[in-house]
Amino acid sequence: MATIAVFSTRPHDELFLRGADPDERHELRFFETALQPDTAVLAVGADVVVPFVNDDLSSETIDRLADAGVRGVALRCAGFNHVDLERARERGLVVARVPEYSPYAVAEHCVGLILSLNRRIHRAHARVRDANFTLGGLLGFDLHGTTVGVVGTGRIGTCFARIMRGFGCSVLAHDPVESDECRSLGVDYVALDELFRRADIVALHCPLTPATHHLVDAAAIATMKPGVMLINTSRGGLVDTAAVIDGLKSGRLGHVGLDVYEEEAGVFFEDLSDRVVADDDLMRLLTFPNVLITSHQAFFTREALTAIAQTTMENADAIAEGRPPVAPVE
Ligand code: NAD
Repeated sequence: MATIAVFSTRPHDELFLRGADPDERHELRFFETALQPDTAVLAVGADVVVPFVNDDLSSETIDRLADAGVRGVALRCAGFNHVDLERARERGLVVARVPEYSPYAVAEHCVGLILSLNRRIHRAHARVRDANFTLGGLLGFDLHGTTVGVVGTGRIGTCFARIMRGFGCSVLAHDPVESDECRSLGVDYVALDELFRRADIVALHCPLTPATHHLVDAAAIATMKPGVMLINTSRGGLVDTAAVIDGLKSGRLGHVGLDVYEEEAGVFFEDLSDRVVADDDLMRLLTFPNVLITSHQAFFTREALTAIAQTTMENADAIAEGRPPVAPVE
């Protein structure tokens, strides 16, 4: 039996994680608070911590977890850009993640953003609720025949490319590791600058690393087609927010769909509706009629949560018993 401390818990986390431990083999301790240096003390007595995407796993937190006797970290997400892996290694903490759950969940959400932005479905919905049945300002374009640029053709990017091929789009891709599966779908691999130059829709599906930080910056936006649609369901840091705001103001960016945001920690997943939000860039983005933001919900399907909980429990189980986890972060 392992003691597992789950941070940033929302009701669905408890539901699915308990569902993945039907025989109640483990002691699950759920904390609503995020994991950060001053909350790491809650992990005292736990074998494993289970943090989420916006928890703070800096060296300070890692030190406090190690001092508390925690053996490892079982992230219940795919990305691990928020973990100081070197410090974890130094302190002997095993780190595991959920590399694969439902690529369909994220790819389909990406398509949802594209369709909503193109056909202004979010604006039409607000309008008809106010008994305004006019069409002005709702003009879209056929996706059929457009060129979609996919940056990163891993699990999610490949799934997304397949869907867009189904719409009758031409798909360009850029990835240092080219996929035969994508080629067989009729995807053409090109250099990143060519993708930016030719795509009507640019969708980001690569991880956030030092090499991909601000992959979409002012220089990249300047090379894109006027009126291009930019979709980021990957990680906020891939995009320079200030450059995106400038691109929207100049009209170079015709539509922007974001499920992730560089400064989302402490904002996304929270109800701030009765507070003053201090992030001026985020509030500016929300004023554009051609921007659609969702709160890091692309992963949020029943199938994905079931798979995330399953792998997380398997990782936690293994770490607690001193076995290699099923999906270590190396
Ligand atoms: P994956 O590891 O299967 O694929 C990532 C691909 O990106 C790989 O093919 C890799 O070669 C490629 N890549 C790496 N560096 C690149 C670069 N410089 N340019 C272009 N491609 C590059 O990962 P995945 O499961 O497809 O997930 C992709 C990303 O989606 C994750 O890193 C994560 O940040 C994000 N994600 C978001 C959500 C959400 O809810 N919004 C959920 C899951 C994953």
